[in-house]
Amino acid sequence: MDCIFCKIIEGTIPSYKVYEDDQVYAFLDISQGTKGHTLVVPKNHSASVFDLPEEDAKAIFRVVPKLSNTLKKAFNPIGLNIVSNNEKPYQTVDHFHIHLLPRYEDDELVLSMINRMNDLEQKDYVEVLDAIKVAMKA
Ligand code: 5GP
Ligand code: ZN
Repeated sequence: MDCIFCKIIEGTIPSYKVYEDDQVYAFLDISQGTKGHTLVVPKNHSASVFDLPEEDAKAIFRVVPKLSNTLKKAFNPIGLNIVSNNEKPYQTVDHFHIHLLPRYEDDELVLSMINRMNDLEQKDYVEVLDAIKVAMKA
């Protein structure tokens, strides 16, 4: 399969390996958003979270606390963001992955969410929740 991350897992493309077990591979992102920026991927190819098997999700998140604590110990960040981009234009490599991004004072990484709380009324939340409940049942 023509997938960069599958090739990294197989070892045909080199990587700076951080961690590996039967189901998971973690390596330094080639573009270090912050110092220690690590990608955690399932060894089985899934394009995105939308087709990620539960078993692979479990395997990934089982190692996230350990890897986060390791990065904390190594670099003493002030915090850490966990990010996963899914589908274009957000996702640029179509093999599901999560980013572990240690955060530092003045690191200039921008991950912003606009707070719309003041624009919303109770009925707006209810409408959103109803749509989710309908989708959950379908
Ligand atoms: P996305 O935009 O899909 O969330 O993130 C994909 C990430 O993969 C990017 O941050 C990019 O720097 C990283 N990446 C792309 N190609 C390679 C590669 O060949 N090796 C490594 N280590 N990282 C890569
Ligand atoms: Zn792949």
